Amino acid sequence: MELVDIGANLTHESFREDFDAVLARARKAGVSRIVVTGASAGGSRAALELARDHAGFLYATAGVHPHHAHEVDEATIALLRELAEAPEVRAIGETGLDYFRNYSPHAAQISAFERQLAIAIDTGKPLFLHQRDAHADFIGVIDGVRDRISHAVVHCFTGERDELVAYLDRGFHIGITGWISDERRGLHLRELVKLIPADRLMIETDAPYLLPRDLKPKPSHRRNEPMYLAHVCAAVAHARGETVEQVAASTTAVASAFFDL
Ligand SMILES: [Zn+2]
Repeated sequence: MELVDIGANLTHESFREDFDAVLARARKAGVSRIVVTGASAGGSRAALELARDHAGFLYATAGVHPHHAHEVDEATIALLRELAEAPEVRAIGETGLDYFRNYSPHAAQISAFERQLAIAIDTGKPLFLHQRDAHADFIGVIDGVRDRISHAVVHCFTGERDELVAYLDRGFHIGITGWISDERRGLHLRELVKLIPADRLMIETDAPYLLPRDLKPKPSHRRNEPMYLAHVCAAVAHARGETVEQVAASTTAVASAFFDL
């Protein structure tokens, strides 16, 4: 079985101590490739360095998360444009809108989002998108450039049916995390995941965040890591009434095509 983790924040400080062991455990669990999420200027640069150090196993995205939108200035955009040219960078993002935490003002989030969409348009690279509690504005911004962007994945989808339908109607791909294993907040996802055509579905851990809540035995720590992608794959397969092998093969093929791995 071979899996692709399309979103792991491996530049996070919690991986500094045992990075090589984390990668070894991922490989052992069947994770053959990982797309390292770039979520800030420095983080995107670090993600590219990781991808260069682990060619063929790690790849990177270049972007600034809406939480950090208030930090985006001309130098940030210039850096992202430079990083986006690197062959190891396979998508622009993570970018989008997050009105749940509101760490950055809405206007700053929208502006940073638009500027990153422009980078995706200019480079022709796919988009790695984040949306939380901002669906209407998110759709409004993206519909302004819809006909000029190539592919897009809405990562860590946790929304409701109307949001999912809006993304699928626009031809977007969907990333599912261990949120689906959350017995408090993820139950609706177990129904919605059935609506996603196999050729639009990918899986991710969003490590170190979103440790699946139903791991057995329960780890002593709360840090998520790519080896638990196998658990996400099994949860998705169970919800869709498919075999683990089917979901692994299909999501790996979709991710390979989407990120040109
Ligand atoms: Zn995100």
